[in-house]
Amino acid sequence: EHLPEALRAKVRDHPCYSERAHHHFARLHVAVAPGCNLSCNYCNRKYDCANESRPGVVSEVLTPEEAVAKTLAVAAEIPQLSVVGIAGPGDALANPRRTFETFERIREVAPQLRLCLSTNGLALPDYVDDLVALDVEHVTVTVNAIDPEIGAQIHPSILFEHRRRRGLEAARILLQRQLAGIEALAERGVLVKVNSVAIPGINHQHLPAVSRVVRQRGAFLHNVMPLISDPSHGTHFGQIGQRGPTDAELLGLRAACANDIAVMSHCQQCRADAAGMLGEDRGAEFSRARVAGLS
Ligand code: SF4
Ligand code: SF4
Repeated sequence: EHLPEALRAKVRDHPCYSERAHHHFARLHVAVAPGCNLSCNYCNRKYDCANESRPGVVSEVLTPEEAVAKTLAVAAEIPQLSVVGIAGPGDALANPRRTFETFERIREVAPQLRLCLSTNGLALPDYVDDLVALDVEHVTVTVNAIDPEIGAQIHPSILFEHRRRRGLEAARILLQRQLAGIEALAERGVLVKVNSVAIPGINHQHLPAVSRVVRQRGAFLHNVMPLISDPSHGTHFGQIGQRGPTDAELLGLRAACANDIAVMSHCQQCRADAAGMLGEDRGAEFSRARVAGLS
């Protein structure tokens, strides 16, 4: 309801971008992107990218050809399929050849499907033209802080221009690239959603400021997700006993962020190989072996 009419038309059949659509339309994530250019303290590479995903087990990494075969198999069995996204298991734009080859091929064989991508944003400014050329209409960027001092506590290092950078330097580069990427996409008419992982005591109080800044840069939806910090997941945050927000904290935080931007509250933190309606995950039905048998 907060959205202008022009944007509403674009989100009508995307289950993540429209709360109403998620009852009627399905999404598929194809897990073609194994590598990552960031280190997040909540990451455990035995699982999918925690920026977008609930820790499960790591998805079966697919080649672009396998991803296309899977897309066709899912479209045949789930007629509500409207969106195909790349959300890991690492970072979509840290694996640009695999990601763009997958999108190009899906565009050819299933032009009716919308394309969607989620990224930590570090490489985003380099790929805005490619995303626009392929008509990728929806991009999610994970932004956990707009203050590098806070960002450095969450993302201790990055791999940028073939070098590992650490601490404040890394956090500043990441933030500058994220905001430049969001702004460039928004200027070109791409819908940008921002994901933030709420981490009590680290960036929790800071997320309304993130809402404000990303909205100024052109994002239109903020998805505030809870840190999942079970020590058995073996993340750095899990090892130091960092807790996630309580339900009450999360509700309060989403309300605070909603002063500045539309806030998504129906995110399911899906796996990087999720398939089906939000809230159901039929990804396991479309294993590589089964899809190979179908095609
Ligand atoms: Fe892990 Fe995702 Fe962070 Fe990369 S962006 S380090 S895959 S959580
Ligand atoms: Fe949508 Fe959230 Fe699932 Fe991504 S993780 S597909 S935003 S519901």
